[in-house]
Amino acid sequence: MSVCTICGHRPHTCIEGAERWLPVVGFEGRYEVSDYGRVRSLLGRGRIMTQWRDAKRGGRFKVSLMLTDTSSRSLWVHRLVALAFLGPPAPDQEVAHWNGVATDNRLENLRWATRLENAADSKRLGTYSGQRSSNAKLTDDEALEVWRLCHTMSDGRIGRMLGVSMGAVRAIREGRGFVHLNLGPVVRPKLVSRHQPPLPPQAPIRDRLRDRDA
Ligand SMILES: [Zn+2]
Repeated sequence: MSVCTICGHRPHTCIEGAERWLPVVGFEGRYEVSDYGRVRSLLGRGRIMTQWRDAKRGGRFKVSLMLTDTSSRSLWVHRLVALAFLGPPAPDQEVAHWNGVATDNRLENLRWATRLENAADSKRLGTYSGQRSSNAKLTDDEALEVWRLCHTMSDGRIGRMLGVSMGAVRAIREGRGFVHLNLGPVVRPKLVSRHQPPLPPQAPIRDRLRDRDA
């Protein structure tokens, strides 16, 4: 169960010490972002900023940065990486993740693309083919998490929550993916209702920041 300790994804090219840092656009002198998708503060002791996942947007990472001493902004980490390393987008462009994993914010996984190009990626990586390659993008830990959630949650909801394709979720649920984990197919009772319980409430970010900094 090895996960890259730098970017949080499976082992690959993240090498301690080789990480490149650039100023966060609009926050120069305050924060820097790296090509491994990390953000650090230049204020105080220069710590790595905590990121959290927005369940409503495929589990994409956000980070809260102080704009002035009294006001902060919650920002998408993938945008910070792209703006710093790729420059500004054209008006109709958004960030696209090459491998379809919305939480994988390494520079090499990001590019500016139009919404249409982005949709074509989703189709290419999507539900109906290439399940092997979708599975390859999950870590063993993530696959295990998917398998656990499959007992109580729909494929689509898991996919949106964790930012993985429905094909990948289904393959794990049916016992076809990650066979080396020996998970077996999930037998789940008929979902009683299409209506899913709401996500557990999250403390407002300022409370979490305060707790963390306490
Ligand atoms: Zn990594």
